[in-house]
Amino acid sequence: MSDDLKDKTAVVTGSGKTSGIGYAIARKLAACGANVVIADLVGKEARQNAPAAGNGDELAGLAGDLKKTFNIKSLSVELDVTRGDSVARMTEKVKNQFGRIHILCNNAGTVFGVPNAIHTYDESDWLKTIDVNLNGVFRVSKALVPLMMDTGGCVINMASRAAKVPPLFNGAYAVAKAGVIMLTKVMAKELAGAGIRVNAICPGVIQTDFTDWRFKLEADILNSTVAERQAEMLKTIPMGRLGSCDEVANLVAFLASDQSSYITGQAINITGGQLMEI
Ligand code: NAD
Repeated sequence: MSDDLKDKTAVVTGSGKTSGIGYAIARKLAACGANVVIADLVGKEARQNAPAAGNGDELAGLAGDLKKTFNIKSLSVELDVTRGDSVARMTEKVKNQFGRIHILCNNAGTVFGVPNAIHTYDESDWLKTIDVNLNGVFRVSKALVPLMMDTGGCVINMASRAAKVPPLFNGAYAVAKAGVIMLTKVMAKELAGAGIRVNAICPGVIQTDFTDWRFKLEADILNSTVAERQAEMLKTIPMGRLGSCDEVANLVAFLASDQSSYITGQAINITGGQLMEI
């Protein structure tokens, strides 16, 4: 990896869990010399409302560890991407500490409710899922892109394989992530002139809490076991294994760096061959 990320500033949403993709991204960018902002949900109440929310008490500790380990600047901020006031508070803190940013990774995401067909989907779960995964990317981008207008930069949005291949009974998530891909393309066109590249990433099945939660839910509903669900899933992945958070983080670091200087408006698969189409 080239060293052009050194001294740049990156905000990564949903990065407050050491087991998640977001933290692996923050850590990788810090290892490349970037200053990082760890932004995530905090508090018990927030965790109850979102099955996969992070532990807010750990945020400051995680940011401090990255600062010490990689000799960079770091900041931890509470963030709920579904709330405009929370996004505004985060933006103020980022502005006060860093003035401008160069990299935004919209990683926060989750699913509410239980798997269901569209005709039986709970409306509240549908709206909440779309709000975090799609509207959250809009809210945070609207607030933070102005902080990269002067210098240029990169936005990397977390979509999913589910945005391209319709999954069964996970419609709200799939539709939201498909929206993230179009939002990425719209932003890429609008921001190219300002020297801001915007790309999306479409992971397949990556080993995280989110995946464990999903396997468990499916096993319960299908009267099966987690091991059986995993074995079924592995049959569909040519590389025969789940992906790791670090592998996704490596792709983010590439897209954030000058090594990808002519790539914008793309939705790049990282699926171990599970998805080979564009
Ligand atoms: P995770 O549940 O471990 O982490 C998601 C993070 O998002 C958590 O830290 C959580 O607190 C945060 N978050 C949730 N709601 C939020 C909100 N309202 N405001 C701020 N933060 C919020 O999940 P993960 O597997 O690390 O997933 C990270 C991203 O990758 C998500 O966007 C997910 O949809 C996407 N993704 C994951 C996989 C996979 O297989 N794990 C596959 C495709 C896409």
